Amino acid sequence: MTDPFVIVGGDAAGMSAASKAKREDPDREVVVFEKGDWVSYAACGMPYYVKGEVDDLEDLVAVTPEEFREERDVDLRTGHEVVAIDPEAKTVTVDADGERFDQPYGDLLIATGARAVEPPFEGFDLEGVFTLRSMDEADAIEDFVDEQEPRTAAIVGGGYVGVEMAEALVERGIDVSVFEMLPRILQPFGEATASTVADHLREQGVDLHLETAVEGFGGVDRVETVQLEDDAVSADLVVVGVGVAPNVELAEEAGIDLGPTGAIATDEYGRTNYEDVFAAGDCAEEDHVVTGEPDHVPLALTANRAGRAIGTTVAGDPTPTGGTAGTAIVKAFDLGAARTGILEDDRAREAGFDPVSVTIDAATRPHYYPGATELTVTLVADGESGRVLGASVVGEEGVKRIDTVATAVHAELTVAELRNLDLAYAPPFSPVWDPILTAAKVLE
Ligand code: FAD
Repeated sequence: MTDPFVIVGGDAAGMSAASKAKREDPDREVVVFEKGDWVSYAACGMPYYVKGEVDDLEDLVAVTPEEFREERDVDLRTGHEVVAIDPEAKTVTVDADGERFDQPYGDLLIATGARAVEPPFEGFDLEGVFTLRSMDEADAIEDFVDEQEPRTAAIVGGGYVGVEMAEALVERGIDVSVFEMLPRILQPFGEATASTVADHLREQGVDLHLETAVEGFGGVDRVETVQLEDDAVSADLVVVGVGVAPNVELAEEAGIDLGPTGAIATDEYGRTNYEDVFAAGDCAEEDHVVTGEPDHVPLALTANRAGRAIGTTVAGDPTPTGGTAGTAIVKAFDLGAARTGILEDDRAREAGFDPVSVTIDAATRPHYYPGATELTVTLVADGESGRVLGASVVGEEGVKRIDTVATAVHAELTVAELRNLDLAYAPPFSPVWDPILTAAKVLE
C-alpha cells in the first residue's frame, strides 16, 4: 500500500490540499500535522473580530477538526509539530505531548505558512505589545482591549494589516497612531492609492506618521511609550505589523531549495527539488504571471489555490498551481483600495518592459443616478506592446473592479483589448464606460 499523503500545517494551503486529495482519491490516506489547535481558520477575518464585527473567533473557522475527521476522512492531528523532514528516507519526525515519532510519507506537502516579522525592538516582551498572525494573538488583543481598556494605541507598519487594525481600534474608541518608516503606507498599492488612503486615515482621526522609524517600546512590565528617533509617544497598546517571513527552516534543514525571495522554491505544480515534496501557501514561492520570475506574495487565495492544485496532482491528475498576479484588496474605513500586477516602474523595467501609466478619476455611476462616488484608477501597461501590466484603484465603492484588470493581466491582454471588453452596464451599477474602460481609453 502507498504511504500516506502527509501535510505539515493545517490552514489554508494544507487543508485545501487535504480536502481535495481525499475528494479525488478517497482511498488514499491523508495525514495532517498541525502544531496548534486551530485549523482551517480565516486569519483575514481577525481584524474584524477585534473591531467587533465578528462575534466569536470560532466564526472564522471554515471547517472544524471534527468535520475534517468524521466527514472528510482526513487523519488530522492537532498539537503535533513536525520537527524534521528526511527526504531520502521519506519520513517526517513529529513531536506531540512529549513523544517523538517518525511518520513515513508517499507525498509530502509543506504548508507551514509565515510568521510575523519581529524587529529587534527593545521592550517587545512588554505586556500590551502584540503582533497579529495567529488566532491566539487575535484573542489576546481582543482580551487586552476588553479588560485593560487602552486609551491610546500605536500601530507599527502601514501595510494592510496596520491599516485594517487602525480601523478596528478606532472603532473600539481608541486613539490610534500609525508609524510607517517609508514615505507612504500600502507600499505595493502605488502612490495615488496610498496617498488617498493616507488622507482618509487622517480624516478619520488616525495620527499617521510617515518616514518615522520606531526604535523600541518603554514601560514597566506594561507598554507605556513608543520610542522614536528623537521623541517618545504614549501608547497603552501596540500592534506591530511590519511584514511576514516564510516558515522555511524545516525545509532548509532538509536540503529543500529556497528561491531568490527566501521562500521555498517550487515549479509550476508546487513541487520542490524533491519529486514527492511539495510546498504551498505563505511558505512558498509562485511564479509571477507578468514577470515569469519567482515571487513571494503571501495571500489567502494563492494558498488555497495552490493547496487545491497539489491535492489534485497528488491524486494523480497533475495540475498547475496557477501563479500569482499579486492581486490584493483592503478596506480602510469608508475607502477600499486594490491592486494587481506590476505597478512599479523599476520592477517593470527589470522585467524588460517599458512602462507607461495613467491615473484617472471617474464616477462609479452616471451623474444622474444617486449614490455615485469617485474611483481613482491607475493603469500601467508596456509602452511598446500595449500589454496590461497592472493597476491600482481606490474609492468608496466598486474597488473589486480590480478583478477585471487582474483577468487582463493573466490573459496578457493589451490596453486596446481591455478597452474593448464588453462589460456590464446599467445606471445603478456603473457608467456606460466603466472606470476601468475609461482608464484604458485614456492610456491607449
Ligand atoms: P498559515 O495560515 O500561516 O498556516 C500555516 C499553519 O502551519 C499554521 O497553522 C501553523 O501553526 C502550522 N505550522 C507551521 N509550522 C508547523 C510545523 N512545523 N508542524 C506543524 N504545523 C506547523 N490574505 C488575503 O488574501 N486577504 C486578506 O484580507 C488577508 N488578511 C489577513 C489579515 C491578517 C491579520 C493576517 C495575519 C493574514 C491575512 N491574510 C490575508 C493572509 C492569509 O491569512 C494567508 O495568506 C493564509 O493564511 C496563508 O495560508 P497558509 O496555509 O499558507 O499558512
